[in-house]
Amino acid sequence: MQTYTAPLRDMRFVMHELFDSARLAKLPGLEEVNTELLDTILEEAAKFQEAVLLPLNASGDAEGCQFENGVVRTPKGFKDAYKAFVAAGWGSLNSDPAYGGQGMAMCISKLIEEIVCSCNLSFGLYTGLSHGAYLALKSYGSKSLKDLYLPKLVDGTWTGTMCLTEPHCGTDLGLLRTKAVPVAGGTYQLTGAKIFISAGEHDLTENIVHLVLARLPDAPSGIKGISLFVVPKFIPNPDGSVGARNGVTCERIEHKMGIKASATCQIAFDNATAWLAGEPHKGMRAMFVMMNSERLSVGIQGLGVGEVAYQSAVAYARERVQGRSLSGTKYPEKLADPLIVHPDVRRMLMTMRSYNEGCRALGVWVANQLDVMERLQDTPERQDAEDFVSLMTPIVKALFTDLGYESSNLALQVFGGHGYIVDHGMEQLVRDARITMIYEGTNGIQALDLVGRKLPANMGRSLRQFFHPVGEFIEKNAQDPNIGALLQPFAKAFGALQLATGFIAQKSLSDPEEAGAAATDYLRLFGLVALGFMWIRMAKIATIKLNDKVNVAGPNAAFYDAKYKTATFFIERILPQAGSLLYSIKAGKASMMALRDSAL
Ligand SMILES: Cc1cc2nc3c(=O)[nH]c(=O)nc-3n(C[C@H](O)[C@H](O)[C@H](O)COP(=O)(O)OP(=O)(O)OC[C@H]3O[C@@H](n4cnc5c(N)ncnc54)[C@H](O)[C@@H]3O)c2cc1C
Repeated sequence: MQTYTAPLRDMRFVMHELFDSARLAKLPGLEEVNTELLDTILEEAAKFQEAVLLPLNASGDAEGCQFENGVVRTPKGFKDAYKAFVAAGWGSLNSDPAYGGQGMAMCISKLIEEIVCSCNLSFGLYTGLSHGAYLALKSYGSKSLKDLYLPKLVDGTWTGTMCLTEPHCGTDLGLLRTKAVPVAGGTYQLTGAKIFISAGEHDLTENIVHLVLARLPDAPSGIKGISLFVVPKFIPNPDGSVGARNGVTCERIEHKMGIKASATCQIAFDNATAWLAGEPHKGMRAMFVMMNSERLSVGIQGLGVGEVAYQSAVAYARERVQGRSLSGTKYPEKLADPLIVHPDVRRMLMTMRSYNEGCRALGVWVANQLDVMERLQDTPERQDAEDFVSLMTPIVKALFTDLGYESSNLALQVFGGHGYIVDHGMEQLVRDARITMIYEGTNGIQALDLVGRKLPANMGRSLRQFFHPVGEFIEKNAQDPNIGALLQPFAKAFGALQLATGFIAQKSLSDPEEAGAAATDYLRLFGLVALGFMWIRMAKIATIKLNDKVNVAGPNAAFYDAKYKTATFFIERILPQAGSLLYSIKAGKASMMALRDSAL
């Protein structure tokens, strides 16, 4: 069984102290938001997920989903948990009040997503994809589609899916073959096979709304000929009740490495009645609304697993006694010292901790900008927010999931052989975390998106949304004695990122393969510098608080002390990797591409 308590103190620190949540109330629709409200929601969410979802994590993994005659049964307890989850309103937190949502700020939604994923990643997929489907329909659906489907997706009566992948096409969606033919009455008949569809069939709700990519008969070939369709499992009646069964069948579920309680389905569409969402042939634009939201959410999945992995490993390292400390016995009353005294165990624990707290901070920064982007109209501030979110989306997706997987492996290592066996739940975390690096566009594809699209976009305008605040921070704090020791190594890592950016921009002009060869290293370099920026800002706040001895004492002082020390660990022990990443990037593609295909 994993050990987990939602890290509420850290979440409050990030929301209020690092990013000043009071500013959210200036945005339209968030006027009522204040510290107490955000804290109360977070506390209630934590209580619920810890009590309801966490106990189902191991049992859901052991039992998995069952498939029989087209019907999928989720593991014991999932149905009741889902009912309780939607009844408590956790699924509709930041949806539009016009459709029954609660219109809450993104930062709170993302933090609650993290808690859900720490408690039960498989469960989080059912609710997470529904929200993505809601967003795509809200942006591109007609009024009648929105009126019929959105209230049901928001209140959780129905769930949504995202149907892109086909047996012969995953990354390259331009190859997809599913067809939609127009019929009388403005609907379409859609036929094709989709694989690996998360939550494609289950027993949690009375209806499932599939958002499906398909081609119209006159569609141009490739990615430009794809349209987006709404295909319900049961065709809704105009009053929203469930009507006739549509031509949608689940043919099998996959037996897979992890997230076993999440149904991964092969779905056959056989002349299914479908409705076009958005314009013909412009489906990728519409689907990108869902994909971008999901990419951020998958990043948060990585963080969620990283946090439960860290907490479980710390608890075990305090308890398990093996050997004596290298600097002399620390716990003479015990037969041996606990694992937590050993530097190599500390290396693993501090690495996980510094990843998690850094990612949490970066995630909330992006979430706040999402609110600006969605709630302001036509202002320069809105454009800046959109540029920032677009730049950070591939970084959050790939970096957080890479680090979440690394953390789950480190946690398993802290448990030693006891991590490798099932009992403590560490091997489940490794298995569960692994998929996050693959779905929603593999991490390699995220890296290509970063170097190929996001860097050059609008002559580097997006890039400036990160580079400018970092440059400004370094300049302003050059003389700050409190963080002086950290500023120089941080500035050095930022310098490496600037050099790598210039190198890639220049090299890829004449040879796009150079950008492809540099992409994954560059994303990691960018991600580490982004976490470094979060850490140095957090360190600055921590020193200010620690210097205020009148108001800060007891647990608060311990919190800020730990913040500063973790910042120091990240900047001294992890961030220097920026230098070697720059070195690899500058080596270029030559050795990577030197062997002929047949020689590999
Ligand atoms: C458990 C699970 C749940 C899923 N849920 C969904 C879902 O709900 N909906 C849905 O539509 N899909 C879903 N998927 C599918 C998932 O999104 C795809 O598996 C993923 O996008 C990769 O596609 P692929 O498996 O076909 O790999 P491929 O596209 O064949 O890629 C194989 C490898 O080659 C690399 N590669 C491919 N093209 C390039 C390129 N141009 N340049 C560089 N490298 C490249 C990839 O990065 C990858 O490492 C799910 C998959 C799984 C396993």
